[in-house]
Amino acid sequence: MRRHLLSLALLVVIGVTGSGLPTGAQSPALRGFPDDAVAAQRQREEQFRKVPDAARLKEYMEAIAGEPHVAGQPSSKRVADYALAKFKSWGLDAQIEEFEAMMPWPIETSVELVAPEKYALKIKEPVLPEDPDSGDQTPLYNAYSGDGDVTGDVVYVNYGMPADFEKLKELGISVKGKIVLARYGAGWRGIKPKVAYENGAIGCLIYSDPRDDGYFAGDVYPAGPYRPEFGAQRGSVMDMPVHAGDPLTPGWGSEKGGRKNRREDAVTILKIPVLPVSYGDALPILKQLKGPVAPTEWRGGLPLTYHVGPGPAKLHMKLAFDWQNRPLHDVIVTIPGTTRPDEWIIFGNHHDAWVSGADDPTSGAVSLMETARGLSEMLKSGWRPSRTIKLALWDGEEWGLLGSTEWAEQHDAELKQKAVVYINSDGTGKGWLNAGGSHGLQQFLGEVAKDVMDPRTGKPVFDEARRRAVLGEPEAERKTAEADPSLRIAPLGSGSDFTPFLQHLTISALSVGFGGESPGGVYHSAYDTVKWYQTYSDGDYAYGRTLSQVTGTLVMRLADAPVLPFQFTDTADTLMRYVVELEKLAATKKDAKLDMAPVRAAVESLRKAGVAYEKAYASLNKVPAATLNSRKELTTVNKLLQSSEQKLGNSDGLPRRDWFKHQIYAPGFYTGYGVKTMPQIREGLEEGRYTEAQGGVRTVSAAVNALAVQVDQAAQALQQIVK
Ligand SMILES: [Zn+2]
Repeated sequence: MRRHLLSLALLVVIGVTGSGLPTGAQSPALRGFPDDAVAAQRQREEQFRKVPDAARLKEYMEAIAGEPHVAGQPSSKRVADYALAKFKSWGLDAQIEEFEAMMPWPIETSVELVAPEKYALKIKEPVLPEDPDSGDQTPLYNAYSGDGDVTGDVVYVNYGMPADFEKLKELGISVKGKIVLARYGAGWRGIKPKVAYENGAIGCLIYSDPRDDGYFAGDVYPAGPYRPEFGAQRGSVMDMPVHAGDPLTPGWGSEKGGRKNRREDAVTILKIPVLPVSYGDALPILKQLKGPVAPTEWRGGLPLTYHVGPGPAKLHMKLAFDWQNRPLHDVIVTIPGTTRPDEWIIFGNHHDAWVSGADDPTSGAVSLMETARGLSEMLKSGWRPSRTIKLALWDGEEWGLLGSTEWAEQHDAELKQKAVVYINSDGTGKGWLNAGGSHGLQQFLGEVAKDVMDPRTGKPVFDEARRRAVLGEPEAERKTAEADPSLRIAPLGSGSDFTPFLQHLTISALSVGFGGESPGGVYHSAYDTVKWYQTYSDGDYAYGRTLSQVTGTLVMRLADAPVLPFQFTDTADTLMRYVVELEKLAATKKDAKLDMAPVRAAVESLRKAGVAYEKAYASLNKVPAATLNSRKELTTVNKLLQSSEQKLGNSDGLPRRDWFKHQIYAPGFYTGYGVKTMPQIREGLEEGRYTEAQGGVRTVSAAVNALAVQVDQAAQALQQIVK
């Protein structure tokens, strides 16, 4: 309550002494709104931001995460029904869209150390008496592991990333015919067994080393937030860098009984068995490994000397899955737009979890629910958005972005026509605003971040977000980043539901969440419970409430801005930084003769078009909103802006993974979640495929040139309005 009064007082002071704009105006302009429409818009947004309520976030979380709710099981339907009922009770038009996907459930998971000393791995997370919700009701497994019954000597491969396998080669150790033991961290889990398989391994265990998120990092749950001895990390090992969604229906929506590929032909299902284990289970294996002592950087936090092997530790690993298709339940809310119903603003967060998932994803899902309730309150007070708003709670994200991908593929043609922006959130905690996405929306996002206050400092969430973003820049770039007044948003790789929208359909996207001060020791385990969240993360839901304020403001502003708030000089500046990075990278490869000139020229054209657009845009502020809205050229401008991101896509997609169409942002083929910008050029260079990299120069420059032409057209159409 005090926080709220303070921020109102600040607004009045600035309103009077600062800009001279009507009370309530915090900064002189709102991207996309003419001057005479700013005050009313701000007032509506302030009214919205009063609605989200921490007590309700707590209530929804306790209802949703009070029980395990893994996708494909009746418990996930229970959560979808709960959210559906809430949305309906607020008077919103909500429905469940059902899809199905191949979602294998484990029938048998047994691993035994057979030599030199026998030990049967527990593969079980015990219930803690202090937290009855910590019950291990979802088995420990990695979704889309292969079936297998294998016996082999063990090789310890550190994080199991490509560089680790290179190191093994230097040491003269082969993993061919072996079972690898990798630790979690340094890259996405799915990369580890993929690279192990490519190197001839027959099985893979991934364990959580205490150095990374256990007792070395801090006290373990329940005494502290970190991973206990028998805690382990579930998760998908689908080859998501190739495509997301149901492995049997790449590129089209998976309806019940619809067309499907055969499982044998599914490229994203792993060929070897892989299982996540705790350090409690990894310790007896590591103890019996001999061979060379592990390189210093490979050593974890367990009380032993780490050896690489191979053997004499020998494992027998037997995994079997049922390979069933299972249902997915996406909950979709639609708020129809009045004057621009065919322009859609979409905001989604997944609702499925590996176990209870209080943090991942319920913290974000309940924040989305409060955003929905806030919008419903606005509707009750008479507000109607100009554009259509769609809110989505996705199912099956944890398995491979299943619910969002199937929905995006099912509605692909309509989405390409109508979707303007896809906003994503996922599990959220305390700390500062983390933002990523399409750089044409960077300025817009920064403006919103200036209007939402941090619950702890009472200052705009922009301030700390910017400070942290600067600190996150590479050393060489930090000074320029500091001089740049904007909040630089991160490029998006993968790891959440924005991927089908941004990288498959090439729709502009934003991803937001709070974090940085929430410890992460229970990720995807049975200990990610309501009690853990309330004790160690955003326990008073202050940041969850703030996230609702951020997402609601983003949605309302996008839905009502007469001109969509895109801006392209930021995009050009960002792309030029990538060009410089790639030129430097190319210079380190002595046999790469990469000519980046066409990309440079394209980015330069984009910058010019962006400047022309800004020039036309600058006169917009004085045009009365009524005049602006009556001009037919406005529809042209918005149509050009809405489809601008699609110019960065290419229907052929990326080499070796044509599902990924975006030519600027992609998850790394060998990093998984980690982004690769201008991926074809960058990965071509990194992996020594220089012809592919040079081909990337052609596709990237063509895409950027196409965007430049589109922005130029938008500038001309805007000029028609303002002249
Ligand atoms: Zn999640």
